[in-house]
Amino acid sequence: MAWLKSSVVFIALFSSASSSGVCRANNGAEGLCKDVVLCSGTPESGHCPGSSSIQCCYDEKCTADGKNGICKLVSNCKGTPVAGHCPGSADNQCCVDEDDGSSGSPDGDCKAYSVSGNCKSVSSCHSESGISVPGFCPGSTSEQCCIKATQNDCGFVPETYYDAYDRGQNIGKIGTVKLLGKNIGTVTGCHFLKMRTAADVAGIPLILNSGFRTYEEQQHLYNCYHHCTSGCGSCNLAARPGYSNHEDGHAVDINIGSTTIYNWLKSHGHDYSFVRTVPSEKWHWEYRPGQAPAPYT
Ligand SMILES: [Zn+2]
Repeated sequence: MAWLKSSVVFIALFSSASSSGVCRANNGAEGLCKDVVLCSGTPESGHCPGSSSIQCCYDEKCTADGKNGICKLVSNCKGTPVAGHCPGSADNQCCVDEDDGSSGSPDGDCKAYSVSGNCKSVSSCHSESGISVPGFCPGSTSEQCCIKATQNDCGFVPETYYDAYDRGQNIGKIGTVKLLGKNIGTVTGCHFLKMRTAADVAGIPLILNSGFRTYEEQQHLYNCYHHCTSGCGSCNLAARPGYSNHEDGHAVDINIGSTTIYNWLKSHGHDYSFVRTVPSEKWHWEYRPGQAPAPYT
């Protein structure tokens, strides 16, 4: 929830960044300043104004001539650059047909949101620094699809894109996947799964109660808060549609049924860039890389 956010200045900065916020990463790649959870490529901090969540997003995924590619400067494209599909200068183009060297590696025995992995126990996945993704292996739930991830991204291919909102403003499209029945942004979902894998090995089950919410879903919760009817459920306090942090893709609600779960999150959540942001809601955590842990107990 947390619709009371400060910094009106930030809104102004972000608006200008989203229309023309071209940036350059340390390796010279051209990108666009945007919220990390809206970045389908690699985010890098230190190049954009505003909050630490606004970073220079480069190597974004693109589609040209019906092929999937990566936005790159023409000089860095080892395949075929196609103009008109990427932000920034005319030199930043959708690079398709590029052999990234991965085509020779064998596919695993499972695929999680189009990422190849291998079905195995969560503990053996964790010991290989993998990320366990539930729901993609047959049989018992003790075997999950274990994938490798780079530091920033699991490489999940979004199943659905939705409009994301921050402080009532549309901030662009967020790519989402369905994780155990809940929608979650691919970036936040990747980091939640990283945390969930470690928690599971420690005997702590992390159950996702809510991830990304659409404007319409938030509208429903808001209506229910004001007019609690039979089709509503909990009728908990809910932010106005457009103003919930579940609509900007950062927030997750985690079932904290026992104090051991909450205590684990308090000790380890920040290791995975999850911080609390609402003093009265112990279940509400947000993926906020670079943000210090909140002092709430
Ligand atoms: Zn929440």
